[in-house]
Amino acid sequence: MTFAAQVLTLYPEMFPGPLGHSLAGRALAEGRWSLDAIQIRDFATDRHRSVDDTPAGGGAGMVLRADVLASAVDHALERSPDAPIIAMTPRGVPLTQQRVRQLAAGPGVTILCGRFEGFDQRLFEARPIEEISIGDYVLSGGETGALVLLDACVRLLPDVMGASSSGDEESFENGLLEYPHYTRPQIWEGRAIPEVLRSGDHAKIRAWREAQAAEITRLRRPDLWERHGGTPDRSPSGARRKT
Ligand code: SAH
Repeated sequence: MTFAAQVLTLYPEMFPGPLGHSLAGRALAEGRWSLDAIQIRDFATDRHRSVDDTPAGGGAGMVLRADVLASAVDHALERSPDAPIIAMTPRGVPLTQQRVRQLAAGPGVTILCGRFEGFDQRLFEARPIEEISIGDYVLSGGETGALVLLDACVRLLPDVMGASSSGDEESFENGLLEYPHYTRPQIWEGRAIPEVLRSGDHAKIRAWREAQAAEITRLRRPDLWERHGGTPDRSPSGARRKT
């Protein structure tokens, strides 16, 4: 089964962009996923092909019209009826690795990219659209957010990543940030690779990595640590994971 991505955008030439390279690019060329960038302007109905208008109630900027965007969404729905429809918005639910996993396991995704001040609110009332944010900052358009979402999904598709196990231990997969990595040279600028990693004792190495992951998460992301089952002011060695 091919993961089918549709992106509704005013800038289809931005795609596949970075996703045409490296792992995602190879997977795209091999047909492990497909990408259709659809021009929203093609669904405009007036002779100026307008997609936006001034905000009701006044204020700066322009707002994407509900009627034009709904036509574009309906077109995408017809072509890919089972794919969830996601609008990129800063007000959306923050994207998580868990949601990425769910999406990657499904038939694909249809992504709506905003521009200007965003979308006419009635679009979200009239169509089954999930709003997703990629973080607490403001982008100039949804396209870079769509690239982020697709990159995160595509690397999880079967046979896309070289060593398929390398996905399991990474940051967020077990609710923690990842442990630190090292590679040759053995000593660099006077700094040695931690002794335990050269011991060949795999149980000891696993224990060290688990402790490092716990400590880094506790220090850098108390929110993740707490959700994981630790308490922010307790040492990770004394804390147990919730089951
Ligand atoms: N006026 C809006 C910002 C619009 S930014 C507000 O204050 O909330 C223009 C477009 O960029 C948005 O419609 C959205 O598609 C995209 N965008 C901006 N920041 C984003 C974020 N953090 N996550 C996802 N999409 C974002």
